[in-house]
Amino acid sequence: MRNFAKLALAASLMCAAPAAAHAQTAFPAPVESSIQSVLPRMITWRRDLHEHPELSYEEVRTARVVAAHLRSLRMEVRTGVAQTGVVGVLRGGRPGPVIALRADMDALPVTEEGDLPFRSRVRATYNGQAVGVMHACGHDTHVAVLMAAASVLAARREDIAGTIIFVFQPSEEGAPPGGLGGARRMISEDVFGDLEPEAIYGLHAWPAPSGTVTLVPGPFMAGSDRLRITVTGSQTHGAQPHRGIDPIVVSSQIVNALQTIPSRQMDAVRSPVIVTIGSIHGGVRYNIIPDRVEMEGTIRYLNPETRDDLYARIRRTVAEIAAASGATAEVSIEANAVPVVNPPALTARVRTALVSALGEEAVQTDQAHMVAEDFAYFQQELPGVFFFYGVRPPGTTLEDAAPNHNPRFFVHEPAMETALRAMLAVTLDRVGGG
Ligand SMILES: [Zn+2]
Ligand SMILES: [Zn+2]
Repeated sequence: MRNFAKLALAASLMCAAPAAAHAQTAFPAPVESSIQSVLPRMITWRRDLHEHPELSYEEVRTARVVAAHLRSLRMEVRTGVAQTGVVGVLRGGRPGPVIALRADMDALPVTEEGDLPFRSRVRATYNGQAVGVMHACGHDTHVAVLMAAASVLAARREDIAGTIIFVFQPSEEGAPPGGLGGARRMISEDVFGDLEPEAIYGLHAWPAPSGTVTLVPGPFMAGSDRLRITVTGSQTHGAQPHRGIDPIVVSSQIVNALQTIPSRQMDAVRSPVIVTIGSIHGGVRYNIIPDRVEMEGTIRYLNPETRDDLYARIRRTVAEIAAASGATAEVSIEANAVPVVNPPALTARVRTALVSALGEEAVQTDQAHMVAEDFAYFQQELPGVFFFYGVRPPGTTLEDAAPNHNPRFFVHEPAMETALRAMLAVTLDRVGGG
């Protein structure tokens, strides 16, 4: 563990209920006192979840912890939604809109490094390999923050003007082969039941400065697809290439040509695109030209309107380069997530609520990112806003901070208070009855 992380951890261990330096309260006194009383429990929940991470669709213990908590708050609770998902409904004492709040629950096949006293020692099997399991994307904090928000809001039940649906989603980190990821599967299993929420909100831990949130109107995170290409040629002697068709040379032309789609064919500003080939396999021996090459990669794009055009260009490029050499190629594209796009009007409303709860300087903006989040599928069903909360300890730079999915990914725990206040601010903006 790096020194900054040690210091930050020492500071947060000494004070289990840290006050966020930037927080400027705009909450009524009873809400404020519920926040203060839930903070130490929120940290305890987070550490427990961190120590017991579970892979996608295996969030059995996590779901049990969440469901027991929601039941203790006298909510209507459904479990087993999308296998391990949990949905709680809090009906306020006054009429008003229905809204939904979402947290994702799964961990990653990453072996935790560092010496947190509550670090994960969990091991599991993933794709047939023995792996460590770690909350390397901060979903433990998302769950704990939403559990804390549930406590605060349930204590205000009589004053809530409307209904709040708490969505604890499994399997955000990518769909299983041939299956659906957690958000799509929850939607396909009628996650909201008879209720029709007007809006959904979600947040994500990100190595921005602790005490801040980052809100981006419009395209915020990329669409992410899995690309598979099989190039078929004709096997021959390495010294007699003219007797066959070389799929290795064709594949190298395809890899290069694919790079000209983002750089030469798509509008660099309106349609930023990445095509990455991450694996390429072909051949068994140095002097044999093989029959076949298989490649896999990821496509990232920000503009949903140009997606079909992008797919068509990829298919055309692959097919015609193969055809030029007399080879054939098959392309399959499997969607992992569509882009997260924050609707501008609702995002402006969220910004106002966040600024009044956290202060102007705490609410930052940013460019879009080419990472993906399946919260996007909820946004296809109803208006939704997704934002980051910063988890980087004070006095550190972005270069110091391990990225999400890294074995040293680190959350400065006091930042979770900012996340809680942000969730409460956007919620009470809709159902606070004000
Ligand atoms: Zn994540
Ligand atoms: Zn992740």
